[in-house]
Amino acid sequence: MAEAPEGAPLALVGVERHYSQGDAKLHILTGADLVLGAGEMVALVAPSGAGKSTLLHIAGLLERPDGGDVIVGNLSSAALDDAARTRLRREAIGFVYQSHYLLGEFSALENVMLPQMIRGLARGEARMRASELLRVLGLKEREGHRPAALSGGEQQRVAIARAIANAPRVLLADEPTGNLDPPTAERVFAMLGAIVRATGLAALVATHNTELAARMDRRVTLHDGKIVESE
Ligand code: ADP
Repeated sequence: MAEAPEGAPLALVGVERHYSQGDAKLHILTGADLVLGAGEMVALVAPSGAGKSTLLHIAGLLERPDGGDVIVGNLSSAALDDAARTRLRREAIGFVYQSHYLLGEFSALENVMLPQMIRGLARGEARMRASELLRVLGLKEREGHRPAALSGGEQQRVAIARAIANAPRVLLADEPTGNLDPPTAERVFAMLGAIVRATGLAALVATHNTELAARMDRRVTLHDGKIVESE
């Protein structure tokens, strides 16, 4: 079983998840262990149906495991009630999905401000921070645009800015460049990597892109419901 070293941003310890399908029981996660260190970018590469999304949902405290624990910082989430889990998720975890899920009626700037305001930051402060993040991601000129007026790569960069707006310790990404053409995927990936290193975030990135996976710090896969290191 994985150790959960002091201060590791994220540790999964013996995580289990089983689904019932008719009479059959599907054992998707059967004791998954993983420790993510600060500033580490880990690729999760596994075939479709292996349980990557399930693992990311559990790691992100969106779903409770049937067994085991998710430790964020030094905080075990197993015993937390739903309100405390939600608070911890908002404080400590950022998500980037394959589709950006930006709110269409809000500008890029507002989309990045919103999670900060939900967490209680004053509007002016959220605006300053959002603006700075968009500048760093090369989107200063696009602040006022709504998502529909942005290219796919720009939308995904706004989604990254939104994910890190609350300075999370952990970033979970599900095919973050999956909808982008190769040069754009490359740029977005490079920015993601730079952010991870500059901020000491721990990132777990599910991807089918073996070329990008090869450039991350480590690669893991799922085998019979357990996490194993891969080449
Ligand atoms: P991946 O992201 O690697 O493609 P998923 O985590 O989405 O895999 O799914 C793993 C397996 O669990 C699949 O066989 C899927 O059909 C099954 N599964 C996922 N969610 C549920 C659910 N809510 N109920 C029943 N089966 C599910």
